[in-house]
Amino acid sequence: MATTAAELGARLDSARAGGLSVGLVPTMGALHRGHGELIRLAADQCDVTVVSVFVNPLQFGAGEDFEAYPRDLNADAELAGRAGADLVFAPSVSEMYPSPIQTTVHVDGLTTVLEGAFRPGHFDGVSTVVAKLFAMTGRCRAYFGQKDWQQLAVVRRMASDLSMPVQVIGCPTVREDDGLALSSRNIYLTPTEREVAPLIHVALQAGAQLVADGETDPVTISSVMVAVLATELAFDLHYAVAVDPDSLQSPPAFNPGDPVRLLVAARLGRARLIDNAGAIVGLHPNPYDRKADTTCAGA
Ligand code: AMP
Repeated sequence: MATTAAELGARLDSARAGGLSVGLVPTMGALHRGHGELIRLAADQCDVTVVSVFVNPLQFGAGEDFEAYPRDLNADAELAGRAGADLVFAPSVSEMYPSPIQTTVHVDGLTTVLEGAFRPGHFDGVSTVVAKLFAMTGRCRAYFGQKDWQQLAVVRRMASDLSMPVQVIGCPTVREDDGLALSSRNIYLTPTEREVAPLIHVALQAGAQLVADGETDPVTISSVMVAVLATELAFDLHYAVAVDPDSLQSPPAFNPGDPVRLLVAARLGRARLIDNAGAIVGLHPNPYDRKADTTCAGA
């Protein structure tokens, strides 16, 4: 375990000097099988795998769950080790932010829509902490989950725009058997809410099916997902949209062969759940189907 940037840097510099490649898996801890898969992939593809565990205050808005966010560093270290991590980097808030931060990273455009509209400033917090983790880690491959599609798009864009020596790799979403995407926040669900939560995945699959069947109108695709979720009153739906996977914008109409990303966010009791799925207009079988979607983009 390393807790300071100096320890981390020394360890990784000497690994790279010895010709070893470095993989980084940034997390906020409360690790589950989804994180475990990212770590496993990193460990498969890199000589030295680092898992960072840091609940980043900068990316939580007022009234969000920064204080309540689940924390269990011992369990995290154990899961990370079992999945193949060589090192856990768990800095304190004062190690990451020794003085009030005056420099932040802002990725334009991608960050004001969807999650950005509901969580103002969230992505500035994410890109700033990820930029710091990249700087502390140095040249590496960094593994992010497709579960947080918009975050992946933002981080990819930041690394590219700022010529960071980091290859960003997006990995498939790990789900429960009933389709619910694994999330550290699922523990906030009551047993009744947990039962209805997989409806988000059902809605996404309905949207993906429509796209694969050739539907080109984003509004029609969105309304089918909204209709599925409207069958369960416990959901407070924030958005259910069909967008271009990179720009995150909905065109007036998709064209046959276009990749489409479907994204849903909804509050369910105390938890705010987000999930997404991909499809290609008019293409069967859907190459992003969860059984087929086992490769890591950029790997
Ligand atoms: P978190 O600590 O939960 O914010 O996430 C750390 C990393 O794990 C992010 O890149 C997430 O996208 C990824 N992640 C979280 N949940 C899942 C999941 N169910 N499947 C795959 N990756 C995930």
